[in-house]
Amino acid sequence: MPEHLGPLEFYGPQDATGNFDLYERVRPDGTVLEVRSARLEDGGFVRTFSDITRRRKAQDDADRLASEDVLTSLANRRVLSETLDRLTEAHRLAASNPLDTFAILCIDLDRFKAVNDTHGHAIGDRLLQAVAQRTKKLVRTTDVVARIGGDEFAVLLASADQQPTAEIVARRLVEALSRPYNVDGHQLLIGASIGIAVGPADGASTNELLIAADLALYAAKSSGRGTYRFFARQMNEAIKQRQEIETDLRQAIADEKLELHYQPIINLKQNNIWGFEALARWTHPLRGAIPPDKFIPVAEDSGLILPLGERALREACRQAVQWPIELSVAVNLSPLQFANPGLAMMVERILRETGLQPHRLELEITEGLLMRNTEATIATLHRLKEIGVRIAMDDFGTGYSSLSYLQSFPFDRIKVDRSFVTQLGSNRTSSTVVRAVVDIASSRGMSTTAEGVETEAQRSALEALGCDEAQGYLLGRPGPVSGVIQVISAWEERRQGAA
Ligand code: C2E
Ligand code: CA
Ligand code: CA
Repeated sequence: MPEHLGPLEFYGPQDATGNFDLYERVRPDGTVLEVRSARLEDGGFVRTFSDITRRRKAQDDADRLASEDVLTSLANRRVLSETLDRLTEAHRLAASNPLDTFAILCIDLDRFKAVNDTHGHAIGDRLLQAVAQRTKKLVRTTDVVARIGGDEFAVLLASADQQPTAEIVARRLVEALSRPYNVDGHQLLIGASIGIAVGPADGASTNELLIAADLALYAAKSSGRGTYRFFARQMNEAIKQRQEIETDLRQAIADEKLELHYQPIINLKQNNIWGFEALARWTHPLRGAIPPDKFIPVAEDSGLILPLGERALREACRQAVQWPIELSVAVNLSPLQFANPGLAMMVERILRETGLQPHRLELEITEGLLMRNTEATIATLHRLKEIGVRIAMDDFGTGYSSLSYLQSFPFDRIKVDRSFVTQLGSNRTSSTVVRAVVDIASSRGMSTTAEGVETEAQRSALEALGCDEAQGYLLGRPGPVSGVIQVISAWEERRQGAA
């Protein structure tokens, strides 16, 4: 037995059978030995010594990697939440001094994604390292600086004492992180938004504190970025309300309480009706009518958009079959519905079940869809066209590099966003844009629809620009299915009167 190990104690883990004991010893020269003592049947035992120095080092490296962000060498999310766990636990146990607080600052970089997209990941990584350096310089060594996501950082001020400390640090961080960076000869400019939660007041657990800081961050970003916000109770209220909406929306979908309203789409040259766009409506039993701009995002965040979208599609097809003349019906599809590889099959099944001819169905998608996962999306769009349904690009002009998207897929229709129509009279650029869209669309055999037409002046301007169809309060507001037949006959009478 090597001398320097001294007397053997039996400690350390036993194997499950209880047949041997195991422990580690570090020799003065730094090598690590594993000592294994196996019991023999006659009561004696055999002891083996193995040099596990390399294995131990690998283990230590792994531990360090598991607690460290590889790119910046800052703490990672795990270390941050373990430290927060300890702080909240200490505060829970101690009858704590009201001045003894700590603060968590969540930092989100503004415009980082744009820099990353323009200059590439290598530059993006160097920029994140520079951000880490600047952040570390501004806080005490006892504070924890962590990278908790792609371009998200967090600072834990372990003894912020009072709110003012957190505020001073936040202000300095916003200022320091928005100074220009020089990375490989590139001058880079980004900004920072910060959300602050103060413990233990803003949350009793790590999770609650991180949510509070995140809500405050969201508020900082909504108020124009490049600033900081402290968590406030009403932010929590907003979240609670959202959760309530989600619960009630789930129920409403299950109970088929959602309705579709129909807005007429008018052919400008013939002055007759082309069809209707189906728009989801929800009347909450207590809150009254909730606009789609409020519940569609909740449905998208929660996945409820899938059953909602399927039901809307089925309902619209079922009702369109019953119209007195064979008009078209337009249905909105959320980008999330394209994540379902069975989307085209579902559309086909619904058409079969309801008996609607495929050419009467138009599906409206947004540019946002084409900005994601392009290949799979384009393939699904082509499958839908093979079925015979039409595809429209909705809200055109609200996204990025719009005109290039017109080349990515043979759309049947482009719907020019309301923002252009509203500015038609006052802003020359919008009529130039509308004319360009009409020209490109017609050269590719696509039609154009102008959205949000509210005045006679807009309508005639659009007609002069060559726009095919129009939709808006001037021509008809969205209304319940019970009014559809009347809207159709009113337009039919007008057409016959003109003829
Ligand atoms: P959208 O597809 O752009 O629908 C047109 C919106 O403009 C509708 O708002 C409509 O009521 C409104 N609108 C129509 N004419 C005028 C006008 O002259 N002036 C003004 N100011 N507004 C006009 P709505 O019904 O509130 O729907 C909002 C959005 O919600 C829709 O925008 C669409 O993106 C989404 N949405 C509605 N129903 C569904 C659905 O079933 N599925 C999905 N995925 N999204 C839906
Ligand atoms: Ca639409
Ligand atoms: Ca639209």
